[in-house]
Amino acid sequence: MNDERIEEALQEATDTRNVTIGEGVLASVADVFEKGFGDSEAVIVADENTFGVAGKEVQRHLEEADRKLIEPYVFSGEPALYAEYDNIETLVEALREHDAVPIAVGSGTLNDIVKRASDECERPYMCVGTAASMDGYTAFGASIEKDGHKQTLTCPAPRAVLADVNILVGAPARMTASGYADLLGKVTSGADWLIADALEVEEIDPKGWSLVQDHLRGWIGEPSELKAGDGEAMDQLIEGLVMSGLAMQSYQSSRTASGAEHQFSHLWEGEGLGRDDDPPLSHGFKVGVGSIAIAALYERVLERDLGDLDIEAIRASWPTSEELEREVRAAHTTPGLDEAAVEQSLAKYVSADELAERLKLLSEIWPALREKVAEQLMPAGQLREMLEEAGCPTSPEEIGLGWEDFKATYSRARMIRSRYTVLDLAAETGIFDECIEELFAPGGFWAPGTAPQSQAD
Ligand SMILES: [Zn+2]
Repeated sequence: MNDERIEEALQEATDTRNVTIGEGVLASVADVFEKGFGDSEAVIVADENTFGVAGKEVQRHLEEADRKLIEPYVFSGEPALYAEYDNIETLVEALREHDAVPIAVGSGTLNDIVKRASDECERPYMCVGTAASMDGYTAFGASIEKDGHKQTLTCPAPRAVLADVNILVGAPARMTASGYADLLGKVTSGADWLIADALEVEEIDPKGWSLVQDHLRGWIGEPSELKAGDGEAMDQLIEGLVMSGLAMQSYQSSRTASGAEHQFSHLWEGEGLGRDDDPPLSHGFKVGVGSIAIAALYERVLERDLGDLDIEAIRASWPTSEELEREVRAAHTTPGLDEAAVEQSLAKYVSADELAERLKLLSEIWPALREKVAEQLMPAGQLREMLEEAGCPTSPEEIGLGWEDFKATYSRARMIRSRYTVLDLAAETGIFDECIEELFAPGGFWAPGTAPQSQAD
């Protein structure tokens, strides 16, 4: 771990005060706890798997340091713990029987459950990560299924986070691969922010930007070493994931770490793709396929001269907000998700006149913006290779999605978040449909027969 980088990020973070990453750092868990919570009692929360992997050790270290402990709360290990609200309610009930500070020992799902349950009990908590599987350890908010669909429930990030590289390298390979894909998504999310900034939709926050982007290429640079279990590559991965979460705290928004590739993932997640797989399809695997898809779209977009558009023609064919709403309702029919999509789409809707203004601005800045975005991005084929090397799925088939649904995701994903991305740029410049057709036509990136053979069984 690069101490300086982490320290700098912690200065900006709102909730997290301490991050400890490294080989063998589990031995310092009692010290870290004391720094964060003084003489408070502690309660370990884990599932049967993570309790065996690290929970027992955490307990031993805390006992040796004479920390007062409540009996650990251990969820069942089979079937895999799912991020649903029922689990939070049960945990909250148990936590209300005492005042102890929860120590979540586990990965994404467990951390999210403890994060929200602790907040409902108005308590800070600590997290001991057992897999580098996503960037949520240091992020606020918890991704939980409630009222029939996945949503992000508000709650602060943990006060202290500890991740022992020796434990992380022992995690199931698919979990590490998932974390790698989540981190790789910052390549396209960065490009989206560059566009939003240049078009004066959402200005880049230099701190939030640099915490994620300055060292990104280093963090994602060793996919095959990572897959082989290399400690140094793991150290890079977990640092990148932790920094991404801290950047979200710093900017108080996920813009720093999430763009159109996450909109693909959120759409699939909301509709339950892979929910009943065992284990369920991970967040990172969806983000990975989304990242390739968005990088491929960028290639089609950047090939064009968006400085030379027929602005009047685009203005004339631009939908009214009523027309847009009808379009969104036709594309989103899942109860609950339809209303949300309308709300999000209208939040970023601009009138035909406003659009014409925006396109005028685009015509002035396009050459410089195109260059900047191209520098930020990596070729879609390269992202696919890196994901493959890390052991991630890289095609819709491998995540259980049909080609028609995958193609439709491009326009549908745009509608579910108000965040401005390349999907909006393509739509607003009138090139969306032709770009998508090119991607799936013979010779295109997603042309039938060009995607690698499914590796899933
Ligand atoms: Zn993510």
